[in-house]
Amino acid sequence: MLPNVAGEPKRRFGRRGSKMKALQLQKPGHASITTIAEPVAGSGELLLKVRMVGFCGSDLNSFRGLNPLVTFPRIPGHEVSATVVEGHGDFAAGTNVAISPYTSCGRCASCLRGRPNACQFNQTLGVQRDGALTEFIVMPPGKLYPSRLSLKELCIVEPLTVGFHAVARGRVAATDTVAVFGCGGVGLGAVAGASARGARVICIDVEDEKLLLAQAAGGAHVINSEREPLHKRLQELTGGRGPDVVIEAIGSPATFRAAVEEVAFTGRVVYIGYAKEPVSYETKLFVQKELDIMGSRNALPEDFQAVIQLLEAGKFPVDQAVSVIVPFEEAGNALRSWSENPSKFKKIMVSLD
Ligand SMILES: [Zn+2]
Ligand SMILES: [Zn+2]
Repeated sequence: MLPNVAGEPKRRFGRRGSKMKALQLQKPGHASITTIAEPVAGSGELLLKVRMVGFCGSDLNSFRGLNPLVTFPRIPGHEVSATVVEGHGDFAAGTNVAISPYTSCGRCASCLRGRPNACQFNQTLGVQRDGALTEFIVMPPGKLYPSRLSLKELCIVEPLTVGFHAVARGRVAATDTVAVFGCGGVGLGAVAGASARGARVICIDVEDEKLLLAQAAGGAHVINSEREPLHKRLQELTGGRGPDVVIEAIGSPATFRAAVEEVAFTGRVVYIGYAKEPVSYETKLFVQKELDIMGSRNALPEDFQAVIQLLEAGKFPVDQAVSVIVPFEEAGNALRSWSENPSKFKKIMVSLD
């Protein structure tokens, strides 16, 4: 985009030299609004007005300085709904979109195998590169998913895709019983994704409120593993065989182990949680049960399409899942309150309108 010259219609956005506001993490525990240069769309990119940004556990980790992939200063924001400022065709000005925050190099082993979600050199918005908590961003159209969904719904697409991808990795079918360990944002997507495929889903968490939400998202059974004996309940619910698929969305050594202990013989285990410490296993179970054990990372375009379809069908309790929407000016305070009181919030979204 060129700077304004005399006689050209005045552009409101994307002028070289213009300034805009952004929320910046300066150092662990410190977030404030700062002024940065407005981005200018290069060739093959579109200028977008950011409308809403969601926070998840990884943003909380970044804020606390516990995300090893984040260096400071960093602008967070990878769960985004936005509006095209200037574009054409499917991406005409005014079109609302969800965004895929990942990049892929096209040359690493994952990319060559058609699995760019696990690109060795991926750079997620707000993690390895500056994110979307700012007024404008530029993106290539391939990362945009236009839909008539509301801004709030578009903003919840990305966090749900991560769980949907795990369900795809686990080859979940309608005949399966799937146990999901952890019903926070990511686990909730796995519950919704597995139930959208017709599977019977057992939701496991230690917080009743999260279990209620998981039920609203399609869970058939819930187990509060703090109050109920996990192994006994899983056996009861599966005729003594254990779940066909276990999806682990917590990342603790105990749940990493429980996944292989509880899954049925010849079952599938999918890990989404990042374990922060080494996990010791009774590895004979891998062999004895002839398990498929898989990792699941980020999401593919088809996961975005599947989530959008689910939301368009009104099959996900969006209002119930989002606990608070704060204005841009309050985004830093919201991160602070969340950090001080992690169990108080389900999902925080920031409105930039
Ligand atoms: Zn997230
Ligand atoms: Zn790659």
